[in-house]
Amino acid sequence: MQIDIIGLCKNYVSEGKSFKALDNINLTIPANEFFTLLGPSGCGKTTLLRCIVGLETPDDGEIRIGGEVVWSKKKNIAIPPEKRGLGMVFQTYAIWPHMTVFDNIAYPLQVRGEKKNVIREKVMRTLQFVQLEGVEHRSATKLSGGQQQRVALARALVAEPKVILFDEPLSNLDAKLREETRKELRRFLNELDITAVYVTHDRVEALALSDSIAVMRKGHIIEIGTPQKIYFDADHRFVADFIGRANQIDAVVRTQEEGCTQVESTLGLIRCQQRDLAPGATVTLCIRPEFVRIGSQVLPEGHNHLSGTIAAMEFVGEVYEAEVQVGDSLLLARIDPDIQVKEGDTVQFSLDPAHCLLLSA
Ligand code: ATP
Repeated sequence: MQIDIIGLCKNYVSEGKSFKALDNINLTIPANEFFTLLGPSGCGKTTLLRCIVGLETPDDGEIRIGGEVVWSKKKNIAIPPEKRGLGMVFQTYAIWPHMTVFDNIAYPLQVRGEKKNVIREKVMRTLQFVQLEGVEHRSATKLSGGQQQRVALARALVAEPKVILFDEPLSNLDAKLREETRKELRRFLNELDITAVYVTHDRVEALALSDSIAVMRKGHIIEIGTPQKIYFDADHRFVADFIGRANQIDAVVRTQEEGCTQVESTLGLIRCQQRDLAPGATVTLCIRPEFVRIGSQVLPEGHNHLSGTIAAMEFVGEVYEAEVQVGDSLLLARIDPDIQVKEGDTVQFSLDPAHCLLLSA
């Protein structure tokens, strides 16, 4: 089901002052997408999710789920959470410690008053789906963190919702389990016709799981796009910075050439991805460290050719991470492990114009 958010506002009062936790949010979440709300702590992700679910009452705007208005200030509509047909998975698994795995998963169906044999059939099918068959009679809290989160997922899925919402569901798991559970989650959801709305501040989770990511800041949505668009081709400096490490350098547009825009910066004249910008405009030149690659390759034609001094380097496994002094700028770079260089050496490298992004300053 598609979700439409129109002009949504939510104010809170903090230390006697009102502030906008959500400031006129307009958003369409397409049916059957895995859609992530990503942003730093306090930007309003959870508030938006809770408004969709109905656990929070907005101050203005409208929310539609599958075309049906579930909340509207103007129309004075407020459908309660249990009537919105949604499933929800929380950070703290919110499973009941005194119940078995079976009873935890069966709960939403019991509340709906479904028949015993129907409940049994649906719970067993869902247990199989999340690969927990065989543990249904165990106490839910005796399971591992990853298994408990699968119980929470099963409980959200058992009532066959058309939309499932996740609020940082993996953040209580250790790094290895988080990665495994993330992959499982993607696999499980791929098999269902379901819209997933996922809140996280973890950029890797957002990149790995999502069809689309909305990056939020201070109650606003700054940018929406596929993981690849947000990572490689962001429109905003904040987004490029939040989604991964990036060299960000002040620059001024000089000329527009065929297929590229040339800017003046502390790196010198740099040919960049083409953007429709007037000469003299101030911009931010954004280059990801993985595209400042110091290797044995011949410097390709059409790329920017630079030289710099290695100010620092650190071995991090597959590559060395380095800081290269180029003019007045210190560039984060990658050095292939087979390259024999050390701190203080002067190196030549190239920058592909396609990976030199120009963002609004
Ligand atoms: P996090 O990743 O830390 O959970 P978030 O992006 O989900 O952050 P929200 O929980 O939506 O952020 O909070 C947005 C802002 O509203 C924060 O400044 C928060 O302190 C504030 N806030 C949230 N709930 C309330 C409340 N019930 N009363 C007052 N302020 C609140």
